Amino acid sequence: MSDYKFFEQVNKAFDNAAQHSRFDKGLLGQIKICNNVYHITFPLERDDGTIEVIHGWRVEHSHHKLPTKGGIRFSMSVNEDETMALAALMTYKCAVVDVPFGGAKGGIKIDKSKYSDRELERITRRYTYELIKKDFIGPGSDVPAPDYATGAREMGWILDTYRQLTSNINSEACVTGKPVPMGGIRGRTEATGRGVYFGIREACENKEDMDELGLELGLPDKTFIVQGLGNVGYHAAKYMIEGGAKMVGVAEIEGSIYDSDGIDLEQLMTFRQETGSIIGFENTKELKNNTAVLEEECDILIPAALENQLNEENAPNIKAKIIGEAANGPTTARAHTILKEKGALIIPDNYLNAGGVTVSYFEWLKNLSHVRFGRLEKRAEETSYKKILTVIENISDRTFTDEEMARLASGAGEYELVDSGLEETMIVAYNEINNLRKKHDIDLREAAFLNAIEKIGVIYEHMGIFP
Ligand code: NAD
Repeated sequence: MSDYKFFEQVNKAFDNAAQHSRFDKGLLGQIKICNNVYHITFPLERDDGTIEVIHGWRVEHSHHKLPTKGGIRFSMSVNEDETMALAALMTYKCAVVDVPFGGAKGGIKIDKSKYSDRELERITRRYTYELIKKDFIGPGSDVPAPDYATGAREMGWILDTYRQLTSNINSEACVTGKPVPMGGIRGRTEATGRGVYFGIREACENKEDMDELGLELGLPDKTFIVQGLGNVGYHAAKYMIEGGAKMVGVAEIEGSIYDSDGIDLEQLMTFRQETGSIIGFENTKELKNNTAVLEEECDILIPAALENQLNEENAPNIKAKIIGEAANGPTTARAHTILKEKGALIIPDNYLNAGGVTVSYFEWLKNLSHVRFGRLEKRAEETSYKKILTVIENISDRTFTDEEMARLASGAGEYELVDSGLEETMIVAYNEINNLRKKHDIDLREAAFLNAIEKIGVIYEHMGIFP
């Protein structure tokens, strides 16, 4: 087991929380273990005709609910340990936000920037083929999604490969995070970052907790620093700013920048696209390396890039009072203890970045039902709102303009329904884990684990062990 450091770290956090549960060691062991681990190797013919061996993994952590669900990442850090740990985190995350899936994770050990688009397509399609052969993908068995360095394009390749090789009327539900014309759902791309925003906003709206941290109530005017301006980091920052918070620092691969007066996100994105770097943007100060900004002054720190970014070296110097773990596993166990001792509120990854899997769940439901959310009811809702507004007009002096009528009487479409489901999910789950935190005098990470353990443990109790 000693090679499984990240997985061990997840299990250590699990064990800490499990002390507060009523389940015995055997049942807890069953919850913790990875049910299926698949190491895939296959040859890639590169564009220049040379052959290269590619390594990939897919881990299904828990079959207590099916299908299992979890992203696929492209990264040189991918290995068995990382994939097992991330699959386990998916199980707990799904349980925390009441998404009825077991956890899974996949990864291919490549540096995406070193391959052409055609090579990436061949890698993705061959990986999918290998998953199909071993029943590691399917609408009712295991449903991948995007993760680090993968997105809608790769999910589209996965669906297309699955559809070519199987005959299943529900094939669209074999993967989520697809492009909308291929059965994807409006709101999925931004879902994880938007969920991060909902979660942090909810934390900031708890008066007792803000008083304890010495912070004002509410998100407006709070300052934040974000690490990684990819899918999750960019969207989290965008909605945090729309919610009234001020972005004062950014870390990216090439370095980190800080400006206490605030950094314009959209202009920074354009600047980076044009120059290839965040360094030199407007009046920002360039810091000595790409992690230095994590130690700068701010209320909220949002690591949204990779694992182990907050560690025992930088944790003692981190000034943020709230750590919003947008990435998976960004804080080492040691750093967690240091930050906790300093009084920080750590909003853990296994809750905070669950927006992606929540909306993936909605996408999967849409694919199985073969109908877009809102398609049946949108116009009926509009008609009844219009009737109510007309009654108001009739009993008052007020006449609504066409523009007001259109705005006030609009029914909910797919995006609005997805967004509302996501907001509700993140708010309910935050309050569940925050209440557990207070009840057991533990931290939010332990509370999220405990919440998941309780929900999964009950299922195993009812299932019994077969055969
Ligand atoms: P992404 O590839 O879109 O973005 C990652 C960003 O981090 C990139 O902009 C990259 O340049 C930057 N980065 C890489 N190394 C860095 C470093 N050392 N310092 C600063 N920046 C660095 O990936 P993503 O989908 O945004 O995923 C980010 C994290 O969020 C991962 O941990 C992933 O597992 C987690 N996550 C993603 C989703 C999702 O829906 N995409 C869901 C849940 C969790």
